[in-house]
Amino acid sequence: MVHPHAMTLGSSTVEVRIHGAAGEVTGSCYEVIAPRTRLLVDFGMFQGTSQQEMRNAEAPDVEFASVDAVIVTHAHVDHCGRLGMLPRLGFAGPIFATEPTAELLPRVLISSASLQQLRVEEARAGRQPVARVVEPLALAMPHPGLVQAPPVLFFHRDADRIRKALRALPFMEWEPVADGVEMRFLHASHVIGAASVELRIERSSGGSPIHLLFSGDIGPISNPLLAPHQWPERTPDLLIMESTNGARRFPRTGQLQSLESTLTSARERGERVLVPVFALGRAQSVLFMIAQASHDGVLGDLPVYLDSAMGARASELYARHPHLLEPEVRRACMRGQNPLHFPQLHTLMSRKESESLDRVRSGCVILAGSGFCDAGPILRHMKLAIDRPDTRILFVGHQPEGLLGDGLLRGATKVEIDGAVLEVRAKVERIEGLSGHGDAADLLEWVRRMPGMPACVAITHGSLEARAAFAQELSAAGAPRVESPMVGDSIAVA
Ligand SMILES: [Zn+2]
Repeated sequence: MVHPHAMTLGSSTVEVRIHGAAGEVTGSCYEVIAPRTRLLVDFGMFQGTSQQEMRNAEAPDVEFASVDAVIVTHAHVDHCGRLGMLPRLGFAGPIFATEPTAELLPRVLISSASLQQLRVEEARAGRQPVARVVEPLALAMPHPGLVQAPPVLFFHRDADRIRKALRALPFMEWEPVADGVEMRFLHASHVIGAASVELRIERSSGGSPIHLLFSGDIGPISNPLLAPHQWPERTPDLLIMESTNGARRFPRTGQLQSLESTLTSARERGERVLVPVFALGRAQSVLFMIAQASHDGVLGDLPVYLDSAMGARASELYARHPHLLEPEVRRACMRGQNPLHFPQLHTLMSRKESESLDRVRSGCVILAGSGFCDAGPILRHMKLAIDRPDTRILFVGHQPEGLLGDGLLRGATKVEIDGAVLEVRAKVERIEGLSGHGDAADLLEWVRRMPGMPACVAITHGSLEARAAFAQELSAAGAPRVESPMVGDSIAVA
């Protein structure tokens, strides 16, 4: 039986406390309190506005010194970005992750520590990046002025301690991770190494163990690049699942055709195509599509630049873990065909290499971060080319309201990027239906493929609207109990 917001526990009860990503899309962190142990699943950053970022410095109300192990679902910052705080908070146990996640995590944390430091220095020097819409007035965003830099959460040495605490586990194998708790990772088909986490927890009174399932981020059911999802063999007593796209349904086809038509025009007219991407996930799904376009003969001699050292390293992992790829892609990969490589691709590993592109005037495609156009090298590329009619800006993912990307999609005519006010003469386009997260139909299908409907589903990791819409769908599909907890709530399973 499941009691939401339970405060008192019997000795046979397991409690899950929600410390983030509840009614919002970032800051994933759950604490599992079992009869003989305490675990954390994910310890991610809050991202978005500066107020949200300030929340990162405040550690959740967890007795870190009595946490026995931490489990990480994947290497996106909103799931792992605060792990670097653990040494200072008193945690000294092992951190479990899949092999690709364990390989990526130290780099993600080191780059995050450098970025935290850089932002403090930028704030001190009064040169924080500005990217905003100026015209039309209906879309104009106020100049942020001098924003307080988010606090430095950890340093390189902390990231190094996390690297030493990491234990890589294979998918689908049960592993004892703490006293009376076994866990295993299931494919989540979201990014390379991304997993759902299944826990089997012994009751102190004996009897059948309690099963919990944490979805992590769930990719689309038919992922063209990654191996399909894996499901538990037993219905979980409690399922905690994300709902990022819980109110959306995407078109299933037409994405490759849209991309190929953009690439054809760009090649014929010698245009520069700027594609804002995140380094892990979106960069690879777009590279995979461009590789297909290259194979179809659409790309010709149009060069493609991946302007992201982290993106290049993440791409390498896809080719090094063929068993985690979609079966046909896996077979090609085993024959020596890297699914993310094609002759026209160049990877840029440093700022100097990135700046060398500024002098290139012939047609090309540039993939660069950030995917939200709020920081990173994409801003420099935009500043140099947004006022030219031979530029295209191609969006391949969701753009949050209030940021430059969303403003451009809504028809911004004049923007300010790092002190320069520029007319928007570039063509702005979007390919619909690309997301690392499944849409509402995928999420529902993922639950339906469990052996049975869980007694309780707690929906997290989505806006209030997205999870309310998805809660309704789940109830209509027969879920007996659907909870929408907030930060600080807990759910008990007896
Ligand atoms: Zn993710």
